[in-house]
Amino acid sequence: MKKIDLRSDTVTLPSTDMLDAIVNAELGDDVFQEDLTVNKLEELAAKITNKDSALFVPSGTMANLVAIITHCNRGDEVILGDQAHTFLYEAGNISSFGGVHSRQIQNQEDGTLLLDDIKDSIRKNDIHFPITKLICLENTHNRCSGMPLTIGYMDEVVEIAKNNSISVHVDGARIFNAAIALNVAVKDLVKDVDSVSFCLSKGLSAPAGSLICGSNKFIDDARRNRKALGGGMRQSGVLAAAGIIALDTFKNRITDDHHNARIIAEGISDLNGININLDRIKTNIIYFQLNHSDIGSIQFLDKMKESGIHFFEISSNNYRLVTNSGISSEDAEAVVSEFQNVLS
Ligand SMILES: *Cc1c(COP(=O)(O)O)cnc(C)c1O
Repeated sequence: MKKIDLRSDTVTLPSTDMLDAIVNAELGDDVFQEDLTVNKLEELAAKITNKDSALFVPSGTMANLVAIITHCNRGDEVILGDQAHTFLYEAGNISSFGGVHSRQIQNQEDGTLLLDDIKDSIRKNDIHFPITKLICLENTHNRCSGMPLTIGYMDEVVEIAKNNSISVHVDGARIFNAAIALNVAVKDLVKDVDSVSFCLSKGLSAPAGSLICGSNKFIDDARRNRKALGGGMRQSGVLAAAGIIALDTFKNRITDDHHNARIIAEGISDLNGININLDRIKTNIIYFQLNHSDIGSIQFLDKMKESGIHFFEISSNNYRLVTNSGISSEDAEAVVSEFQNVLS
């Protein structure tokens, strides 16, 4: 039986091309900035995002941490969404390691923060308050159905930030999913933000690594912070080589992930007990709720697992499916059939 793994797009395995590139990569000591493959990947990332420079880091979590502590001093405040990955799933690192205070405001269902909420959260200059330094956005928004934030919305947030002399960081772990869903270029989506990070190891299917992109000065400072956190990696061209292939070829195949997510979402939306909002399925992430008279959540997940289909219950009766490069359209159809069998 084939395993159909919809737990995340992090489960993707490197392609043969990636493994070949790893074997043939030109390597050096990246802490000395002498790994030509890492340098090439960083140049490519800077070009795609149209920023001065980029920095290769081991993970998306470290990318956000390095970016935030580069923007903020200890005691400064960052405005972010209460459903943000940085707030929920990064072990509180910005406060434990960065001393950065977070101001969480409510994420709307589409992953945005209300502009008025952002404005109201910016601190006045008063010795009682921390200093607001940064706004963090997430695009696409993992916890908000993988919804993409539009260029228009990004522009409005950047304008508020500029008017208040604060910076904007985008957690773009899945920024390529956003760009493809909106049919825009990544560089246009992040054009006026101060920094953006993205993951190579999700839909792009490389084994590891993320990039942070920003101005030359920002990336120089970020490089020091990466070193301080133990993220300087020496011959990391072995990873960067796969990252280059990911950026060259894999970003186009993300379209398939979105297509397969639609197949699954549309196929299961009418089934007994399933609640799903099809309007919110724009990328590769599907959330649905199950309220079935005969089947409880443990039984449901077990039955699916018996048929080789794996996914998570993110919160009570709330499930997430993430399509990825290991899932074909036939797999997507098979998932629909199995849901039909189990829930009929
Ligand atoms: C996965 C993810 C991260 C963190 O990436 P890791 O490589 O798992 O550390 C950050 N932000 C978002 C939105 C993510 O989905």
